[in-house]
Amino acid sequence: MTTNTNQIRLVIHVEGGIVQAIYSNSSAPIIQIAIQDFDIEGADGDEIAMLNDGTEFIGHIEAIIHNDSCVADVFAAFDEEYPVNDKQQENYVARDGQFCPNCGANNVQANVGIEADGLSAWGLVGCSDCESTWMDQYRLVGFDNLEATPLKAISPVAEVFAHKLS
Ligand SMILES: [Zn+2]
Repeated sequence: MTTNTNQIRLVIHVEGGIVQAIYSNSSAPIIQIAIQDFDIEGADGDEIAMLNDGTEFIGHIEAIIHNDSCVADVFAAFDEEYPVNDKQQENYVARDGQFCPNCGANNVQANVGIEADGLSAWGLVGCSDCESTWMDQYRLVGFDNLEATPLKAISPVAEVFAHKLS
């Protein structure tokens, strides 16, 4: 399987015990990260936030900066295995899968039938220009448009069956 945007690596840049920046190797939309520091000694009152249970901390919301080379450099310093994010995959997702990964044409035909397996699903796509085919890969993110039916109580149904059997 090709490496894609699921292979996210982050670098948290700290100076003087304070988070200065967070770098990511991915342009995937990770929105925000909250910094939570329980070492509140010497902090000004207006820097302190409080959880529902009264626990105090200092912190802030930090945006993530997309900087692949920075993250790659830091992980290399640890001799860590580092995923090379596939630019072609990232571009494909960024452009909503509206171009052919082979010839670049936007004359692509997606098959409406999607084959699902738990959290993932696949749909066949073809390019009308170069006649390449590939599978779009989908990931389950939730559901909507639930048309709920009234829930039937189990026990009365069981009694009906019991009557029929006797
Ligand atoms: Zn093509």
